[in-house]
Order: sequence, then structure tokens, then C-alpha cells
Amino acid sequence: MKPELVLSDLIRINTVNPPGNETAAAAYLKKLFKDNGLESEIIEPESGRGTFVARIGKGAKKLLYLSHLDVVPVGDDWDFEPFSGEIKDGIIYGRGALDCKDLTAAQVVAALELHAEGVPLNGQLIIAATADEEKGGRLGAEYLIENEPDKIKAGYAVNEGADQPIPINGKLAYFIQVGEKGTAWCTLKARGVAGHGSMPTLADNAVVKMARAVCRLHNYRAEVIVVPEVEKLLKRIAGLCNLELKSCRPEDVDHLLEELPLDKAFVEALRSMTRMTVSPNQIRGGSKTNIIPDYCEADVDIRILPGQDCEYVEKELRLVISKDIEIEFNEYKAPTFSSANDEFYRLMEEVTLDLTGKDAICLPVISAGSTDSKFLRGAGIPSYGIGLMAAGFDQAARSTIHGRNERTDLASLRLKTDFLKELARRYLV
Ligand SMILES: [Zn+2]
Repeated sequence: MKPELVLSDLIRINTVNPPGNETAAAAYLKKLFKDNGLESEIIEPESGRGTFVARIGKGAKKLLYLSHLDVVPVGDDWDFEPFSGEIKDGIIYGRGALDCKDLTAAQVVAALELHAEGVPLNGQLIIAATADEEKGGRLGAEYLIENEPDKIKAGYAVNEGADQPIPINGKLAYFIQVGEKGTAWCTLKARGVAGHGSMPTLADNAVVKMARAVCRLHNYRAEVIVVPEVEKLLKRIAGLCNLELKSCRPEDVDHLLEELPLDKAFVEALRSMTRMTVSPNQIRGGSKTNIIPDYCEADVDIRILPGQDCEYVEKELRLVISKDIEIEFNEYKAPTFSSANDEFYRLMEEVTLDLTGKDAICLPVISAGSTDSKFLRGAGIPSYGIGLMAAGFDQAARSTIHGRNERTDLASLRLKTDFLKELARRYLV
């Protein structure tokens, strides 16, 4: 069975969210399973917003392969038709080719091939392709976990979420996502006394107060916190670059980050794995050139590490922002984490290395963004994200996720499929 044909078909079904229309893609998968003699179901909390769920094998042990069916809007200026699903010269073109209809195709084909080949499984492999991930998951993974958890409850889950591999000094570093930073978004509110713009000393300008606070936030240096998985990651990367992480003290971590001769985006991703990030991104205040404003507010994007919460954030913000500025949290999602010191993680590592060869290494990472894994981890299901690509894949394609000209290649799609087949075969024994 060719995963590229499934991927191409899925790309042709437009599931841009909003509005989603994932049921069309779920119905396609349901028919594909039926044609292969397998039952499956579509769970549809709202019309058109279907999540596909199927399972192969019998027994108490369960492994969940999770992906999502919706994609983000395409925008302009593509060099090809975003929903053509064209396959040409080893490349599959279109929105969702990397995020993450490729994973859906690989998971589905892995299950169908295991079934067709009659591979004995001691347990169940559950395939779930959700709706609504790109808008937060309320009608997809969150709905399932809250309303029909038995459909997807499993010992472990494999999902999207890790970056694609990067070459480091002759090796190809593969990543397994073990955690996602949380969000503690807040609005800061500054109040002052209004007045006429011609007499600034008579009033108390809220915009100026907020400007000071925003500058201090910009200069804030967050505490460096290195969880064991990230320590392992930094040490391995340092070693590959003939450098050394002397200790997890802030100065040693930052020194290493300055020295690493690697892609800046990757180094900054490493930095974000070692600390909370604070970014004041929106500011609103004032109404007219000649009126001194008595109110100003600013929205701050804060991403937190395992072990941090709103209380921690507030304590840290108070170190740099004066008391007369209010802090109001308006979106909080806890960080989520699954250990890399775990038999299933080690199995994923083993299968990755067995399939990718002696020049590969496998490393745990924490993402700054979030996926449906947060709901699974929240429900006690350890979840790991993959970003497997074949050696020699087009590195330029990585920036096409959520961007223009999204595409993947046949070799990477086949590698993903083979990895998922082998992982299920070795786990469900
Ligand atoms: Zn995705």
C-alpha cells in the first residue's frame, strides 16, 4: 500500500480550519478501512467536525497513534495549487503535507499493512485522526478525552510534535518530543489620571507607565531551569560540536548556546527549552493626541516550563513591574511532560536508530508550542511526538509548515510508515 496515495487524497480534501470540515476526510478514511475489511467510526460533536477512530488487534495492551485532520489556512503566493496533492519527482505537494496529513497517512497505512500482512499483535493499535487541533482541539482531542475517553485511552501515544531532524557535524539528529511548554498569557493594566496634553505634569500618563513596564519586561532575564531531558539534549549536542556543557548553571548554559555553530532558529529553540519566555506583544492606550490617557493595557505571551504556574509567573513579573500595574491572567495551559526515562521512549529511540542507520542519533526535546498531546498527557497517557524524515530531505521544506509551498517527500513518508509499523510490532508483543 502506498502512503503517498493516501496523503495525496487527504490533501485534496480541503480541511482548512476554520471551518474544518474534517468529516469529509474522516469519511474517506472510514471507506479506506472498510475496503480493507476493517470497521471504524467517526465521532462528530458538531456537524462536519468529525474525528476518525479505528483499531486493529485485540487485547488489553493499547497503543494510540494520534494525528489531526484539519490544516491551517493557505494564504497567498504559493508556487503550486495548495490542494492538488500532486506527486512529482518524489515530492508530494500541498497543505497538510507536513502538518500533519503525512502522519495521518503513515499511521493509517501502518495499521492497514500490519492487518493485511497478518502480523500478530498482542493488544490494540488505535488510530485516531482528530478534528480541530489547529484551533485548540475543543471539537477533537479535548472532546474525546472529556466525553469518550475509552475510545482513545492507551498505555502510550505517538503524535506529531517534534522538529524534523537536523544535521549536526556529520550526524543526523532525530528528535522525540517529550514535553510542551505551557502558556500563561496575561494582560497588564496601568491606570493613571487623565489630563490635557498641553500640561503633562498635571496628569499621570498611563501609557508612559505601561511603556516603562514593557521595557522592563523586555529586559527581564528568566531563571535558567534545565530539566533532565534537556540536560541530556544539551550535553549530546555539545559533544557532537566538540564543545562541553560544564554544568547547568545559567552562565554555562548560555555560554554553550553562544558557542554552538548551529542554525540560529535551532539554538533559540534550545534557549526556549531552558527558561520561561516573556514577550509583550500588544499594547492599547490613549484616544487622542491632546488627551493624557488614564488607562493603558498590554498583552503578554508567556510560555512556562514544567514546574511553573501562574503563581510563579506573577512572582517573577512582580520583580520587574511595579505594584500599581495589575496583572490579569486570561489564558492558562499547564505545561505537559512525559518522561524520557521510560521503556516506551527507549523503544522509540531504538526503532528510530534501527531504521535510520549508524549516522543517526535520537534526542528528547520540549516544544514551545502545543499539540493534542497536552490533552492526552493531562489524562495520564504518556505521549511522544515524532518528526521523522529521511536523510537528505529538503531542509527548506521545514519552514513550509503553516507557511507557503508545504511539501514532503516519498522517502520520508515511507520511513514514517515503517517506523510506526515496527514500533507497534515491537510494543504489542
Ligand atoms: Zn499539526
